Amino acid sequence: MILNDFFEELSDALFPPLCLACSEVLSGTAHEVFCPDCRRRITYITGSHCPVCGMIFPNSPSENHLCGNCLERKPWFSSARAAVAYDGVVLDAIRRFKYGRDITTGSALATFWAGFDFDDLDFHMFDAIVPVPLHIKRLRGRGFNQSLILARALGKKHRLMVDFSLLKRCKLTLTQTGLDKKDRVKNISGAFVAGPREKIRGKNLILVDDVYTTGATINECAKTLIRTGASKVAVLTLARVL
Ligand SMILES: [Zn+2]
Ligand SMILES: [Zn+2]
Repeated sequence: MILNDFFEELSDALFPPLCLACSEVLSGTAHEVFCPDCRRRITYITGSHCPVCGMIFPNSPSENHLCGNCLERKPWFSSARAAVAYDGVVLDAIRRFKYGRDITTGSALATFWAGFDFDDLDFHMFDAIVPVPLHIKRLRGRGFNQSLILARALGKKHRLMVDFSLLKRCKLTLTQTGLDKKDRVKNISGAFVAGPREKIRGKNLILVDDVYTTGATINECAKTLIRTGASKVAVLTLARVL
């Protein structure tokens, strides 16, 4: 342990950690990934929200209440929460990670995200973490699955197993970008297939993805797992489109 601390300090001295957004050298508190200036530019997800899908009501000081979408049709997941809004420095960093294939940025984002307290989620109640899978063709193109990198950081923090065998992407779909909610649901329908039923039946699972946009992808994943026998599927994402 002491030796590990020594090597960590040596590595920090030789390669000082830089802010993910502005590349300023980070000093002081360990494990920060954005400098204080950039941290102030991040929109954290707080305030009154829908207890199911996590949609926030920025102009409503009232208590949490179900949103129109969840009232109309309850999603397959029990709850969805995100740490920060998908904008500004976070959006830039996520794009660099996914499309620029910058794994160093991805690992730093994963550490940043895993450090959040998702207060209304009792991690002890869950059996495993499931990353939203990529289709094998997309995985080959990108070289990694961004959700798996996030899931591993969360699993390490909460001592939960990450099991990517529980969900596979069987259909190569069009990108969801630019589609409205209805078309997203249609596009993603039937895109996933569950892993072994005996590993899923009766289990409480945390589904992990990088960004929650309309919830169509995550809801299709949750549907696949619940129909295979999962007891409960909660969703955690790094960011959320507001
Ligand atoms: Zn900065
Ligand atoms: Zn809702």
